[in-house]
Amino acid sequence: MFKKRLFTPGPTPVPESILLKMAQPIIHHRNPEFKEIFAELNKNIKYLFQTENDVFTLTSSGTGAMEASVANVIDENEKAIFVNGGKFGERWGQLIKTFGGIPIEVKKNWGEPPTTDEIVELIKANPDVKAIYLTHSETSSGTVTDVKEIAKAVHEISDALIIVDGITSVGAIELKMDEWDLDIVLTGSQKGLMIPPGLAFIAVSERAWKKINQTENRTFYLSLKKAKKALESGDTPWTPAITLVIGANEALKMIKNEGIENIWQRHFRLAEGIRIGVKALGLNLLSKNPSNAITAVLMPEGIEFKKFNETLKYEFGITVAGGQENYKGKLFRISHLGYYDELDMISMISALEFTLKKVGYKFEPASGVSAIQNYFLLNL
Ligand SMILES: *Cc1c(COP(=O)(O)O)cnc(C)c1O
Repeated sequence: MFKKRLFTPGPTPVPESILLKMAQPIIHHRNPEFKEIFAELNKNIKYLFQTENDVFTLTSSGTGAMEASVANVIDENEKAIFVNGGKFGERWGQLIKTFGGIPIEVKKNWGEPPTTDEIVELIKANPDVKAIYLTHSETSSGTVTDVKEIAKAVHEISDALIIVDGITSVGAIELKMDEWDLDIVLTGSQKGLMIPPGLAFIAVSERAWKKINQTENRTFYLSLKKAKKALESGDTPWTPAITLVIGANEALKMIKNEGIENIWQRHFRLAEGIRIGVKALGLNLLSKNPSNAITAVLMPEGIEFKKFNETLKYEFGITVAGGQENYKGKLFRISHLGYYDELDMISMISALEFTLKKVGYKFEPASGVSAIQNYFLLNL
C-alpha cells in the first residue's frame, strides 16, 4: 500500500463527499435540475465572497478570471497599477500589457507585501490611474497583502478600482468584499473551494460595472457583460463545466455549514502550527507577512531540493510545491489551503522530519512534531 497526500496550493485535496457527487451521470445544463443547482450555487457563492454583488462562474482556470478583470475593465492606453512581489502579481502586469493598458509596477522583493503609502504615492503621481491590481495571498512567496487598508486609502483619494486576486485567499483568509469596498474579487475552483481545477469565480461591484460599461468589448468568451445577461435568467453564456458546478455547489454547502469565520480561524491554526513546526526544526520562512493558506520554507543550507523533494514524494507519498523563478530549488511550499485538519498538519511535519533525516539535515528528532502538537494541545 502507498498512500498519496497532496500538500500543494492548487490543486488541493477534494472531500470524498464531493468526489461522489461529481461521479454521477452527466445532466444537461438547460434542464431544471441543473438550474436549481446553479441557483443554489449563485446564492452561496456570495456568502463565500461576503458580498451582495453578483458573482459570475466562468469555465476556465483562475487566470481566466484574472484575464476577464483586465480585458473588460482596461481600455487601450489606460493606466493601471499592479504589485509585482511574486509570480502571480507579475501576471497582472503581463495581462495589462496584453490588453494595451499601461502597467505601473510596484516592485517588491518576494516575501514583502506592498505598503499602503507606496500605492497612495503612485496614485498621487498618476491621478488618471483606472485600477489597482492586487494579489491578496501571493502563492509563490506565501505572503499576504493588507487589501483592506489599501482599498480604504485608495477610495479616499481616487476613483480607481480595487481589483483583487483572491485565488488563495477566498475561503482561507478573512476577506469581506462589501465591507472592505473591493471592486472585483476573483478565485479559482482548485484552491480554497476544494474541487478540481476548471472553474473561476469573479465578483463585480457597482463601481466596477460603471467602468466596464464604458470599456470597449475586447473579449468574447470572457465577456462580463454576456455573463451578466445570462445570469439574469440563471444561466451561463456558454456550456459550463457542469460536473464542477455540481461539485462547487456541494463545497459551498460544506463551507456554509462550517461557517466562514470558523474556516478563517481553522486556516490560521493550521498555518500557525506549520510555522511553529518548521521553525522548531531550525528552518526559516521566506515571507515577512506569511499567508495562512501557504507556507514558503527556505531550503536549509547544503540540502539539495531535488533529493529532498523526491524523498518526500516517493518514500512518503507527499507532494509539496517547489520554488518558482529565482527561488527554484531554494524553497518548498506547504499548503494548508482547503480540506485539511490538524492531524494532516502533524503528519506533514512528521514526514518532513523523516525526509530531512534521510537527506542528512541535522536537528533534534521529534522537535518539529512536538512543537506543532503542543501548539494544538495548548490552544484547544
Ligand atoms: C493558482 C493561482 C493563480 C492561477 O490560477 P490558475 O488556476 O493556474 O490559472 C493565480 N493567482 C494565484 C494567487 C494563485 O494561487
